[in-house]
Amino acid sequence: MANLPNEVSRRRTFAIIAHPDAGKTTLTEKLLLFGGAIQLAGAVKARGEQRRARSDWMKVERERGISVTASVMSFEYRGCAFNLLDTPGHEDFSEDTYRTLTAVDSAVMVIDAAKGIESQTLKLFEACRLRDVPIVTFINKMDREGREPIDLLSEIEQQLALDVTPASWPIGMGKTFKGCFDLLRDRLFLFERGGKQDEAEIEIKGINDPALDSHLKPDEVARLREDVEMARGLMKSFDLQAYREGHLSPVYFGSAVNNFGVGELLAGLAEMAPPPRVQHTTTRDVAPTEEKATGFVFKIQANMDPKHRDRIAFFRLCSGQFQRGMKMLHVRSGKQINLHNPVVFLAQDREIAEEAFAGDILGIPNHGNLRIGDTLTEGEALQFTGIPSFAPEYLQSVRADDPLRAKHLGKALEQLAEEGAARVFRPEIGTDYIVGVVGALQFEVLADRIRTEYGLPVRFEPTSLHTARWVESDDAAALKSFLDETRASMAKDHNGDPVFLARNAWHLDRAQADHPKVKFLKVKEQP
Ligand code: GDP
Repeated sequence: MANLPNEVSRRRTFAIIAHPDAGKTTLTEKLLLFGGAIQLAGAVKARGEQRRARSDWMKVERERGISVTASVMSFEYRGCAFNLLDTPGHEDFSEDTYRTLTAVDSAVMVIDAAKGIESQTLKLFEACRLRDVPIVTFINKMDREGREPIDLLSEIEQQLALDVTPASWPIGMGKTFKGCFDLLRDRLFLFERGGKQDEAEIEIKGINDPALDSHLKPDEVARLREDVEMARGLMKSFDLQAYREGHLSPVYFGSAVNNFGVGELLAGLAEMAPPPRVQHTTTRDVAPTEEKATGFVFKIQANMDPKHRDRIAFFRLCSGQFQRGMKMLHVRSGKQINLHNPVVFLAQDREIAEEAFAGDILGIPNHGNLRIGDTLTEGEALQFTGIPSFAPEYLQSVRADDPLRAKHLGKALEQLAEEGAARVFRPEIGTDYIVGVVGALQFEVLADRIRTEYGLPVRFEPTSLHTARWVESDDAAALKSFLDETRASMAKDHNGDPVFLARNAWHLDRAQADHPKVKFLKVKEQP
């Protein structure tokens, strides 16, 4: 039996958040390179036992027609086991992004040194703030002319209302970029264009150590000391607790494409980033070091092969240790499910999971019985909370071109709703389905998927609907009278929960004013 507390404390499960083009992909690649995962993918092939496990999985993938993109990447660095979760919805922001952030313990925010905070940075940051996810900032592209470091730091502080503290300080920028001084660990890192991994680090005893003068020009040293003094005067100093509570972000500077600052960032994460956290359920808190395994499904990835209906459920292990072949209780249905071929993820590769620990992510192949928000345990009837559903911002009705196939359409929509790709509402009156999404582009994607995966040509049509709200009330009589009175505007979601479909903002305001005991929810927590 592995030492559970040890295994848990060395886990770092995180995501990268960034505006497109800031360098998320490049940084991901470099993190994997530093973590040895890219070479490891090659090495795995040589090892007999693992090779078998790997080809088993590939067979599963082939037979079931599922292709899992690099949604989760696992690697080791300095004794820590990292799980990096990809945040999808790069261009078209989706609910999957939010849900992925419910499965991490911390995040890295990548910012382009020339651009600072951009629209998507802001949106993703807000999603992190909902749950006080601790954030380390990486200011990228220091090999190019960008904005003054102090400017960037105060922009983060002001725009995000987040305290920042420099973890490293850059020396020069663009053509004159010389490297960084690590303020947390008192080390000088010298920049080399196209540098290899693990840049040379030079131990320096504080910013006033005369040793600095032998590595940098006098004006560079003078500027560095002046800048650091100013930054230290203006910004908070590092405080582990404030960082872990999500109130303070340590900031690194670097250049992902040149491998610069990547090792420092990883070392920082190994040292500071939180191990798996305590998770809340409807009945009690679950500590990651509890012996019994528990966890929840935060994402479903659908089949790529139209002939199959199989999917992968992404499962965050919240406590205990998982072993292959284990049976777990699927709390929603009350049934046992046998986990004989769940997968762990290595970069560009995957293997059947033999064991995993709290903080790890498993991919569980299934036929649709697992849904977003589902809890699995070793027997206790727990339900994890905090996995959000968002009221859609765009609503359209959908119809099959062939009216005789309406039933098939219903089935397809139900599956897409369970997967979390869209909200599907069945109005109390009428026969059309109403589909809701958070990004307008998603209608096209859905129409395409329904046509290719289910062989059903469909048409989406605009509706006169403005928005949707889940309704609930502590007062059963008040809820009933509301539902009776507004039947024409009511629908049910795929879980059978009541949803109010408002024609316009006034309609919604009016319903709220008339029914003060009813809550109109924009965000609903699963289940
Ligand atoms: P993503 O859209 O956030 O995933 O960004 P990418 O990783 O694809 O990077 C966007 C562009 O920025 C690419 O052309 C990268 O080569 C470039 N890039 C990434 N990191 C750096 C860097 O440190 N310096 C410079 N000059 N370019 C970079």
